[in-house]
Amino acid sequence: MSERALLMIPGPIEFEPSVLQAMGEKTRSHLDPVFIGAFGRALKRLREVFVAPTAQPFVIAGSGTLAMELAVANLCEPSDAALVVNTGYFSDRMAKMLERHGASVTQVRAPPGEVPPLDEVKKALAQRPFKLMTVTHVDTSTAVLAPVKQLAALAKEHGALCVVDGVCSVGGEALEQDGWGVDVALTASQKALGVPPGLAVLCAGPRALAAFRARKKPVASVYLDWSEWLPIHEAYEAGKAAYFATPAVNLISALEVSLGQLLAEGMAARVARHQKIAAAARSAWKALGLSMLPREDAAAHTLSALYYPPGVDTGLVKKIADEGVTVAGGLHPDLRAKYFRVGHMGATGPAELLTVVGAIERALKASGAKIELGAGVAAAQTTLG
Ligand code: PMP
Repeated sequence: MSERALLMIPGPIEFEPSVLQAMGEKTRSHLDPVFIGAFGRALKRLREVFVAPTAQPFVIAGSGTLAMELAVANLCEPSDAALVVNTGYFSDRMAKMLERHGASVTQVRAPPGEVPPLDEVKKALAQRPFKLMTVTHVDTSTAVLAPVKQLAALAKEHGALCVVDGVCSVGGEALEQDGWGVDVALTASQKALGVPPGLAVLCAGPRALAAFRARKKPVASVYLDWSEWLPIHEAYEAGKAAYFATPAVNLISALEVSLGQLLAEGMAARVARHQKIAAAARSAWKALGLSMLPREDAAAHTLSALYYPPGVDTGLVKKIADEGVTVAGGLHPDLRAKYFRVGHMGATGPAELLTVVGAIERALKASGAKIELGAGVAAAQTTLG
């Protein structure tokens, strides 16, 4: 495959050259004033990206799974009750993690592609007091977008903390952490934040920090413990050197650059761009006769999950790669071989979208599907306007 192949999976994504340049700079000491400044600015920018002026951001070397475990390990104590609003593979992971940390887990599930009805969540919340409720904002296995604003309001009404896995949403989907009453929102660097993989990012609001401070026992893992990381993050934000565990210097420098770009675009404009690109993608899928896995009114804007049309199988992904674009296969265990996924988050614009649609058309044609070359591109162009 060409080195120029376009990476259109739901993370990692294509990164901006200036972000990659920051990754490639000479590595400074983590106590170097230039790095301290960059880390401090990155933390301040995260508050703006999450729209969470009262939250404490954490940036820790690791992937999105570490960000999930940071939330669970710091908030959950054995026998705490947790409710999982389950929309797919990553909600399953959250449930597994909560169980491993000793929580008593209740799940409200929906069939793949759907969101559990709010009434069912409400009923579950009324059954017993829950310490926390988790929601996967966009479950990357199903491309389902959960109604976080409404769910967070329900959690608050019932005295439960609301933890949002925003790994496939933050920086692409609308999220107002403070305004919506989300207590913890978390993500990873490699998706809509636009930085190569390697950073777990989490914002903990005041109620989450209060629950953490009220723990009966310390967190069992030293690396995960917010008590270790809090003074470090506070110091960097105040422009001072501090050490607990070596920060990912180059990744954090790249994060500062990327977050600057996000904020220069503006969060509202960025969300609107993702919605427009997603709308154009949907027009293309319709024109090509590709059905989406998520229910249309619950479909994410950061990626598409599409069923293979009749007579076409998982070999399509390789054929799309042969056309110069990398997309992803299925992930949900019940449907893995029946669908594929296309990421369209971060800096994705019309050029990238039209390229991936064109590649899919050519690959479908090569697979024997009855489509008209150009129909998807034309439909996307019309919606893009
Ligand atoms: N949650 C969601 C919604 C995700 O999409 C992913 C990664 N695809 C994760 C959690 C886990 O992140 P990571 O692979 O970076 O550990």
